[in-house]
Amino acid sequence: MKIQFLGAAGEVTGSRHSVQAAVGGRDIRFMVDFGMFQGGREATTKNLEPLPFSPKEIDFVVLTHAHIDHSGLLPRLCAQGFTGPIYCTDATFELLKIMLPDSAHLQRSDVDRAVRRKKAGKWRGDLPVALYSIEEAELALGQCEVLAYGKSIELCQGIGLEFQNAGHILGSAIAIMDISEDHAKKKRCVFSGDIGMKGKLLMPDPAIIAQADIVVVESTYGDRLHKTLADTETELIKVVTETLDGRGNIVIPAFAVGRTQEILFLLIDLVKRNLLPHLSIWVDSPMATAATHLTQHFFAQLDKESQSTFEWFKKNPSAVDLRFIADVEESKALNKIKGGAIIISASGMCDAGRIVHHLQNNLPRAQNAIVITGFQAYGSLGRRLVDRAAKVRLFGEEVPVRASIHTIGGLSAHADQAGLLEWLRGFQSEPQLVFVVHGEPEASAVLAQTIREELEWKNVTIPERLHSYAC
Ligand SMILES: [Zn+2]
Repeated sequence: MKIQFLGAAGEVTGSRHSVQAAVGGRDIRFMVDFGMFQGGREATTKNLEPLPFSPKEIDFVVLTHAHIDHSGLLPRLCAQGFTGPIYCTDATFELLKIMLPDSAHLQRSDVDRAVRRKKAGKWRGDLPVALYSIEEAELALGQCEVLAYGKSIELCQGIGLEFQNAGHILGSAIAIMDISEDHAKKKRCVFSGDIGMKGKLLMPDPAIIAQADIVVVESTYGDRLHKTLADTETELIKVVTETLDGRGNIVIPAFAVGRTQEILFLLIDLVKRNLLPHLSIWVDSPMATAATHLTQHFFAQLDKESQSTFEWFKKNPSAVDLRFIADVEESKALNKIKGGAIIISASGMCDAGRIVHHLQNNLPRAQNAIVITGFQAYGSLGRRLVDRAAKVRLFGEEVPVRASIHTIGGLSAHADQAGLLEWLRGFQSEPQLVFVVHGEPEASAVLAQTIREELEWKNVTIPERLHSYAC
């Protein structure tokens, strides 16, 4: 068996792992995730790069969750000739129905806008490229097959799959794959996908897996410990209270799926506990609106505490003035609000979508606060804000950064180093091989070293992108 890491190797985005195995007298090739690279020009180049094999050679795709850095290139793969099934959970499928067409739409509008600006002489540099169309996104959706958590199925002779809850976002799964190669002992490969933080808002704790021969584990925060939720709440209360008192706006860039619902939940919960006053919250992302409705739909998959807060809000709807923005005109009207609003918008790393307009509008005023709550990949606009850029270029124009920038770390959708180690400790015996992926080089290196030292596991590898490893 061979595993080749086509992305999320030495970086956080672009999760795509190719597995080749000789089963049932033939060579099977499948992918675990098929995500988009995000953050800057280098990401665009990698997204456009052809695969080292034909998409037609891929028998199936196993998808751990709907985030675009895990699912976002599926339409391109299908458009290039992949016709097999894409296995995912029910909630992931529902999220994909929103996210893939939205991703296509965002790419299209970014291209159109850049072309218009170029014509007007207001765009410098290369024009963005659309990776796929809405029709191609629909094509990928047509290839999805739903598998419930905890149910195992045989994908082909010699390869079995089971999903367990990863506690990361709605529908997120750990993929447990049993592979019986011809003339070899069965091997269990466990792909962590993205592992959630134990005790995090909304989602249940990640499932503990007792046995694996090969583990592919994420390491986004492999070198860090998150702040506690209590510290996060204190910081959020301080920023929100001070900014509202100073008549400023609070702009929160957030992944439409997962983070937006967590922030909403947290703000509502703080109002419920009388730790924040009545709030005016605007959710300005059609995808976030749809994902919030889906979160309500999959209410039974949420943790118990969150269920009770949502029930309280249903009974006390006037406690928070919560508005979901539908169209672009309404979104533009938000530009007129000079203070007192909390605007939650996507994308989470500020690279695309309506958040860019809100930043353009709110960054130049010192009364305003930008609250960064998620991971910001190297090269992204969000990262430049976190790194205290004095000015940023938006829509080809320079915008001064006068608003205060706050990073609130404790809301992570990802387990921290302690959480990842705790999840790995769940394996009752040492796996033959551990691959540490989905982290910037320092984070992966620290996690790998900690696994070697604390768990005393010997074969811990940080794979290089495009290299194949025999397992
Ligand atoms: Zn994710």
